[in-house]
Formats: sequence, structure tokens, C-alpha cells
Amino acid sequence: MNQKTLPFTSEQLESIIAQYPTPFHIYDEEGILENMRQFLAAFSWNEGFKQYFAVKATPNPYIMRLLQPLGVGADCSSLAELLLCEKVGIIGHDIMFTSNDTPYVEYKKALELGAIINLDDITHIDYLMKHHGSLPETMCLRYNPGNLKTGGNDIIGLPTEAKYGMTREQALEAYKQMQDLGVKHFGLHVMLASNDRDVNAHKQTAEICFEFALEIREKLGINIEFIDLGGGVGVAYRPEEEPINFKELGAVVKEAYDNILVANNYPHVQLAYECGRMVTGPFGYLVSTAIHKKDIYRQYIGLDSCMANLMRPALYGSYHHITVMGKENAPKDHVYDVTGSLCENNDKFAIQRELPKIDIGDRIIIHDAGAHGHAMGFNYNGKLRSAELLLHKDGSVTQIRRAETYDDLFSTLDFSNL
Ligand SMILES: *Cc1c(COP(=O)(O)O)cnc(C)c1O
Repeated sequence: MNQKTLPFTSEQLESIIAQYPTPFHIYDEEGILENMRQFLAAFSWNEGFKQYFAVKATPNPYIMRLLQPLGVGADCSSLAELLLCEKVGIIGHDIMFTSNDTPYVEYKKALELGAIINLDDITHIDYLMKHHGSLPETMCLRYNPGNLKTGGNDIIGLPTEAKYGMTREQALEAYKQMQDLGVKHFGLHVMLASNDRDVNAHKQTAEICFEFALEIREKLGINIEFIDLGGGVGVAYRPEEEPINFKELGAVVKEAYDNILVANNYPHVQLAYECGRMVTGPFGYLVSTAIHKKDIYRQYIGLDSCMANLMRPALYGSYHHITVMGKENAPKDHVYDVTGSLCENNDKFAIQRELPKIDIGDRIIIHDAGAHGHAMGFNYNGKLRSAELLLHKDGSVTQIRRAETYDDLFSTLDFSNL
């Protein structure tokens, strides 16, 4: 069980809304920090353990900056994310560049910033040599283990059907090629899980990596110095779901580390994760106002936000918990579809959801919107992306991104040539 509580009271929220009209995304600073401290503590047994925040989840420089004092780096997959790192001052090996289908301009920026390049494909060695002329001393590569006995899930899918990474043979060949080209420090990356709260799924990823590290040593005489276990640590979106236990996660990964690497006298390996979802997901809330009620074949509650503010329910059918502010303890004796205003019938935050009676003007809080929420925003139907606010421990708020304006929306149109 998890309680789906809110980090603000109704009065606090009203005073925030008086300054920043709904809809907006608000992030709980202390929640993000405390969660990250606990995650890092669970891996304190591994010297040099590193968490790279997957910027794509919440690409806001204030969130990146917030995590920086904890030693958290950034996992980037695009030029925009690299540019954000540069602005925030996250550079060098604090950046893991895990991209795919990467144009050279993006590699160029990553190399300029001194990021760790995590190669997605063996042909990219030649690609980098052709465009850049050399490789950095430290390189990582993404391994796709193909057929698994179990595992894979809906968002990433089966490894054999995933576009990411290299086959076993290619990865071995790639390490050899990179060594011949002067690379001195090697990392290994595998990401199989997505939104997985089962520690054993993450243990499996670790075991695959550790066993492959042994094979790499045996076949090539190369010691892998760091292993990046990817992201995919899950969030308990539903109240009846159990959040993942970080201590347990740390413990099962340690068990695999001891059983496979330590038991085979492998030199120390620094472990890493590049989690996004679990870092900000549970600590972000989309705050909206109910502006319409509609009673036809179903009862509808129309919000002042829409799927342009949070696409996950429409895109994946994802559940996001809803709290009607001030009615937390009221009986859930109504059934509603909670909608936005797009001309798309899948623009629904909740379908046939049991909720307390909702009145126009009620503040509707959509939980767990902190990752892939604002980030996936789009402008279809001319919808404007909302502001993002950071809620501090003392209850004060900083606007960390203003809402878009119609001038922003039309800024790429030149009306003078009409
Ligand atoms: C999306 C992604 C992540 C982050 O995944 P989460 O599920 O948000 O933790 C990490 N690494 C890569 C390569 C990704 O594509």
C-alpha cells in the first residue's frame, strides 16, 4: 500500500494558485531529495556508485541542479539534454550519453563536454572514427542480451525486439576494436526493465552484466571498470501497489555482485543506475481545476488541463491516482470519466473512476505526474504547456518554468509573409 498523500494543504494550494493559475505541474523538492538519499544509501556498499538522472523524465535545469549536491549526474540521450547539462554545470563523467541512432553533432557535443559515451551499436565505432578521428579513453557500450528466459515488459518489450544495444558477439568485437583504437577504461550497460517494481527483475539485469563482464575478461583480457544497470526502477502508480524497496534492491544487487564478481576475484566495479521515473515521478503533481460537468451516457468531469499536460493515460492507458482537494475522506460514490479538451476521445485522465462527488471549481490533483508528464507535452489543438513549480520544504514555491504563451506557440510563424 502507499498512501497517495499530498505535500501541501488545501489552503497552501489556494495561495499558490492565486499566484500561478491552474493547470500547473508542481514538484515536491524534499520528497525528491529524501527519496534519492535513500536510493544512494542502498548502494553505499559499492564504492563510487553513481546515479545518472535520466533527464528525459523531467528535463528542467532546476531539477538537475537540485540533485547535483547529492552527486547525481545526468543520463542524456539527445543534444537538448546535453545543452541543459552544460547550462547546469554537469560535465565530464557526470554525464552518461546513452543515445541511439545518434547524429554526429550530438556525439560532438557529448565529446566536447567530456561525457561518457555509451555506444548503442558497433558501427558507431567507425562512425566516430570517421567523423571525430579518435575515441575518448573511457567508453561504455550497450549490450542487448537477446533471448531471456523471463523478463522484458510492455514499454521496452522483449530484448530481441528492442532496437537498442549490441549482440553478444558484436559487443565482444566492439571492446576489441575500441581497445585497438586506444580506449583504456571500459564500461558495460544493459537496460532491460521498464517501470519494474520487482527487485528480481533488476537483479537479473545485474546478473547478466556481471556474467558478461567475466566473459569479457576471459575472452579479451579486459576488466570492465563500471557497469550501468540502466533505469526502469518502477513507481507504484496505484494505491494498492507496493513501492519498490530500495534497501532490498541494493541487497539483491549486492548478492549478485558478490556471487559473480567477488567470487571470481574480479577487481572492483563501480555500479551505476540511470533512473528517471522513480526520481521525480511520485513527487510531481498535475494540478487542475474542474471547469465543466457533463451528463450523457457517462458522467464527465472536464478539466482545464488535457493530455498535452500529461499524456501517459492516453498513450499507455496508465493509471494516475486522482485526489479531489478537500474531499480526501469523502465517500467515492460517483463514477466519472475525467477529461481534457482535446478533440481526441482518448484525452481522458481517468476512465470510469470512482471518486467523490466533484463540483465545478474543485481542484483536481493528478498524482505521480513528475516523470514523463510535462516532458511529453505537446501543442496539438494549440494547447499551451503549463508552468512547472518547485515546492520547497518551508512551503514556498519557485516557478522553475513559466507557462507557454500564444506568442511562444506562434513564434515559428512569420505572419508578415501572409
Ligand atoms: C528512459 C531511459 C532511462 C530512464 O528510465 P526510467 O524508466 O525513467 O528510469 C534510462 N536509460 C535509458 C537509456 C533510457 O532510455
